[in-house]
Amino acid sequence: MQQNELTQEEKLQDEVLREAAVLLLEWFDGHARILPWREEVTPYRVWVSEIMLQQTRVEAVKPFFQRFTQALPNVEALANCEEDRLLKLWEGLGYYNRVRNMQTAAKTVMQDYDGELPADYQALLSLKGIGSYTAGAVASIAYNLPVPAVDGNVLRVISRLLELYDDIMKDSVKKAMETRIRRIMPEDRPGAFNQALMELGATVCVPNGPARCEECPWQELCQARKHGTISELPVKAAKKKRRIEERTILIISDGDRAAICRRPDHGLLRGMYELPSLEGHLSQDEVLDYLRTQNFSPLHIRTLSEAKHIFSHVEWRMIGYQIRIEEPEEYEEKYLFVEPEETEKNYPIPAAFSAYVRYLDIRLGQEKYEEEQNK
Ligand code: SF4
Repeated sequence: MQQNELTQEEKLQDEVLREAAVLLLEWFDGHARILPWREEVTPYRVWVSEIMLQQTRVEAVKPFFQRFTQALPNVEALANCEEDRLLKLWEGLGYYNRVRNMQTAAKTVMQDYDGELPADYQALLSLKGIGSYTAGAVASIAYNLPVPAVDGNVLRVISRLLELYDDIMKDSVKKAMETRIRRIMPEDRPGAFNQALMELGATVCVPNGPARCEECPWQELCQARKHGTISELPVKAAKKKRRIEERTILIISDGDRAAICRRPDHGLLRGMYELPSLEGHLSQDEVLDYLRTQNFSPLHIRTLSEAKHIFSHVEWRMIGYQIRIEEPEEYEEKYLFVEPEETEKNYPIPAAFSAYVRYLDIRLGQEKYEEEQNK
């Protein structure tokens, strides 16, 4: 939309936003957090950090980022990484399609762009797993292109600043916000502006808990603060309820090795490894009967504590059993019997199983990295 097609209200809001942008950049210059991906800014590092930061907190991402970029320092290394190693490096971050898509995109970048992420918003957008937010972040932060990067943080802070009651879960509202920000984007510092918006949303106008208006550079401009409507904003339509799935997790061990299985190549957590599990909550007798159908000879069974894991659309409510069996001779191909140290080192296991792999003294992702760093 051209400037002359804007409504009077939109023009006024743009003026507020321009003023807010100046205050925000001043504030950011004194308050930017020191983050590993800001120390050395390359398109690849911005991309990796932005993908990791989707659905995951900054503090949790830091050690993963260091490790991932040490192991795979550039697009080429990512494109050529073997799948199990790639998933192992991502273990604990969840939403594994993110890293699979990154690898697909890395292969395209090798093939079509000589291994350098393109300095072009539309070209970035065409890469697998890169949506408007990530394309905007890479283009503006790494290449200084004046394009917006609108995520939940940005939608929240601007909704409050301008007191907008549009439902931020709608794509049309996000698109309108991108258009709005494009109009007022400070051309000389687009990357800093996008990062400053995110920073304000992450540290001052926070999603959970009270907004820290007394620390906010917009306290005099903010309409929601002025009218006492902060707690009403942003408007977010309720999400669909998660489906509950009951599962029984089995730790089947012959004393030295324990069984793991590879998940199918489709659906939730595809291609990762897991402890054997069954649908529903089974009793000890039902589990023992099942194990006999799998040609195992159980010697002893004990009940473990309950656990749950929340995915975006489904929640697993789990019970578990630890079963000692005789050393197995013939069993189905789907089982791999592996020593726990080997599993911890080489097999990517989703965090959903963390409550149960502990019984094998296996630590996953974040937990393992933190322990190693504290040594
Ligand atoms: Fe958020 Fe308060 Fe700043 Fe408004 S003044 S943007 S509500 S922190």
